[in-house]
Amino acid sequence: MKTLHVQASSASYPVYIGEGLLNSAGNLLKELGLKPSKILIVTDKIVERLYSKELLPQLQKEYDVFTYIVDSNETAKSFENYHGILTYCLQHNFDRSSCMMALGGGVVGDLAGFAASTYMRGISFIQLPTTLLAHDSAVGGKVAINHPLGKNMIGSFYHPKAVIYDVLTLETLPPKERRSGFAEVIKHALIKDGEMLKWLHQNVSGPADIGPPLLEDMIFKGIHIKAGIVEKDEKETGIRAYLNFGHTLGHAIESEAGYGKVPHGDAVASGMLFATWLSNEILQSGLDYGKMYQWFKKLGFPVALEEHYHTDLLISRMTIDKKASGGNIRMVLLQDIGQPVLHDLTVDESRSFLQRWRK
Ligand code: NAD
Ligand code: ZN
Repeated sequence: MKTLHVQASSASYPVYIGEGLLNSAGNLLKELGLKPSKILIVTDKIVERLYSKELLPQLQKEYDVFTYIVDSNETAKSFENYHGILTYCLQHNFDRSSCMMALGGGVVGDLAGFAASTYMRGISFIQLPTTLLAHDSAVGGKVAINHPLGKNMIGSFYHPKAVIYDVLTLETLPPKERRSGFAEVIKHALIKDGEMLKWLHQNVSGPADIGPPLLEDMIFKGIHIKAGIVEKDEKETGIRAYLNFGHTLGHAIESEAGYGKVPHGDAVASGMLFATWLSNEILQSGLDYGKMYQWFKKLGFPVALEEHYHTDLLISRMTIDKKASGGNIRMVLLQDIGQPVLHDLTVDESRSFLQRWRK
């Protein structure tokens, strides 16, 4: 088992990464000194079927354990489930010393975390990630649900007490979801670590390479970068915004497609391609866009936006983005690999760039 520590100003917590950790979650809770009166495991249908048997028996020996199961996709980050979880907790007499655990990917992590952050003004919360993408979502304390008008629009900053990452769970992760998670791994390399990008280029030339021998290292390196940024800027007043590289267009695609239709990482991959192209156009960064395009294509990412996405509708989604300021659209661009910068574009400029990139 490898352990990383996130040392943010409002919280500090361990991230355990290793094989078979779900089976020892009960012991890890004890090591953390947590003695919850009750535990609610929030999970989705697929993950519940695969992994609740690994987690539940040992927890049930010591604690009063309940499970709340949601649909296995982005639509689960809804007001309805948020309300449902809080109602369930109230009906089952959860109190302030109760604990919520998110067993699954970024969807249940964001949903359960937001519920935990507001139930009785906040109860303990543990992340048990089971997707590659969740190396990003489980660390850093951003939790949220979606609004029909925009992704992650209702949320808070709320750190878990611990992240327990059982990498064996990734063996059942479908290729589409591995690819989606890999987009965030690439993002971390692009904004912070040229050496890591080279390592990824050399070792991952196609979808089949996003597999077990490399996953643990990817997760470790990705979390290391994310934690380093969060530690310096927990509430996103500065450099944390760089983590949104690829997300301005990415979130617009996800909302426009309808939640759950496009994997988060695929939308972010399109967004990263656009932002890289834009960096060359606006900052003359000289990034090798062609190489990135070919690599993304081989990996199976959508390298061109499907025609049904109307440019004007995407642009209006981009203006509701949380990073938008004064009516402008705020993009994260790259001066070079590892050197992100923020750049504001007017709506008209954004439209004209997006139109040109799409051609
Ligand atoms: P997800 O949670 O929907 O999981 C993807 C799919 O994989 C689901 O169908 C799920 O049932 C299935 N699955 C999960 N684990 C599995 C396993 N081990 N074996 C087989 N199937 C498994 O999606 P995700 O990609 O993990 O997360 C995406 C979400 O994360 C988005 O909502 C995004 O906004 C959010 N996110 C949040 C942050 C943050 O900082 N909070 C950062 C990045 C992304
Ligand atoms: Zn993301």
